[in-house]
Amino acid sequence: GAGTWKSERVITSRQGPHLRLAGGGAGACGRRRGGGPFHRCHAPACLPLFLPAGIINFCANNYLGLSSHPEVIRAAVEALEKFGAGLSSVRFICGTQSIHKDLEEKIARFHQREDAILYASCFDANAGIFEALLTPEDAVLSDELNHASIIDGIRLCKANKYRYKHMDMQDLEAKLKEAQKHRLRLVATDGAFSMDGDIAPLREICQLAQKYNALVFIDECHATGFLGPNGRGTDELLGVMDKVTIINSTLGKALGGAAGGYTTGPKPLIDLLRQRSRPYLFSNSLPPAVVGCASKALDLLMESNAIAQSMAAKTQRFRSKMTAAGFTISGKDHPICPVMLGDARLASVMAEDMLNRGGIYVIGFSYPVVPKGKARIRVQISAVHSDEDIDLCVEAFTEVGRKHGALP
Ligand code: PLP
Repeated sequence: GAGTWKSERVITSRQGPHLRLAGGGAGACGRRRGGGPFHRCHAPACLPLFLPAGIINFCANNYLGLSSHPEVIRAAVEALEKFGAGLSSVRFICGTQSIHKDLEEKIARFHQREDAILYASCFDANAGIFEALLTPEDAVLSDELNHASIIDGIRLCKANKYRYKHMDMQDLEAKLKEAQKHRLRLVATDGAFSMDGDIAPLREICQLAQKYNALVFIDECHATGFLGPNGRGTDELLGVMDKVTIINSTLGKALGGAAGGYTTGPKPLIDLLRQRSRPYLFSNSLPPAVVGCASKALDLLMESNAIAQSMAAKTQRFRSKMTAAGFTISGKDHPICPVMLGDARLASVMAEDMLNRGGIYVIGFSYPVVPKGKARIRVQISAVHSDEDIDLCVEAFTEVGRKHGALP
């Protein structure tokens, strides 16, 4: 009734800048309709199937285009053949292979940290860290717009909880003062926020953390592999690699896109997580093929930053052309480019029209995912978009924006 029921589009090709979508089969309503290639039922659950077949994709977190990179795929196949389909075990029973240790070592080296620990996902890494590290005598201070998995991880721990206003350093300082009475303080923030494409003010956060004797934790899911001169992430971009204590990130976005997450930081912390972190202790080891993908993705990034630079150039192209066309794009220099529209209905009809008119796959977001009155269409740029893809997207926005009154 509230229009918030989600349905999923079915992709019949690999992940990439150009996709093919299923359309001919039975829809979510269970019926097959029409003679054409698409299911054309207008039941709300079926509308997403009402699509052209070949589309340009601007809504994956495939920032570096490594999800279907031939070397990444080859590495996965080799790992699958050599190490099998999976371990049928958690890590500490009989689920640790040499490739798991190698990948952990590579992740730590990539981030210039002492050690790393793998999880089945970053959701798990976030679910497992706060409870293992913090006691009821401690405090955690969390940005109000942090990712759901950080919020859930914090819920699971017994530390005292403080929520500070989004990127508001005055509020963080006030909360840090209040939290001085606790044994240990941990400030937790996303490095880059996925709804706005904005970047946490880590320099200021680290200065406050130093002043009030707190540790800093960052979630780098939307930064690892491409932010900073060598793609190390937000801490590299802002020059605070030696000041951030703990990094959690994902292997399921820029780093090959298969699955998996990790924590990297001081060795004693990683040792503690291996003993006490529940999603690590009680869940299966990462499958070898998944390890192979991530490991190769990291090799590619450590060899050269050309892919990350290509993505940055395309991001710049999109942001400047859209701004010149009269749109407001939130955030700065990040491949998450939220096209701010304000009105929820406008965002949803424009996103639908973009697909139907131009085969441009973008998603509209409105309340409760983003604040009321701040509806937007989120565009995500990838290194494997061509300049032509970017220009077609801008053209489609301009045409559809004019049609719906978003542009004069
Ligand atoms: N943290 C952030 C900021 C995310 O955007 C996501 C994924 O959407 C996650 C954590 C969870 O990552 P994973 O997909 O590896 O569980």
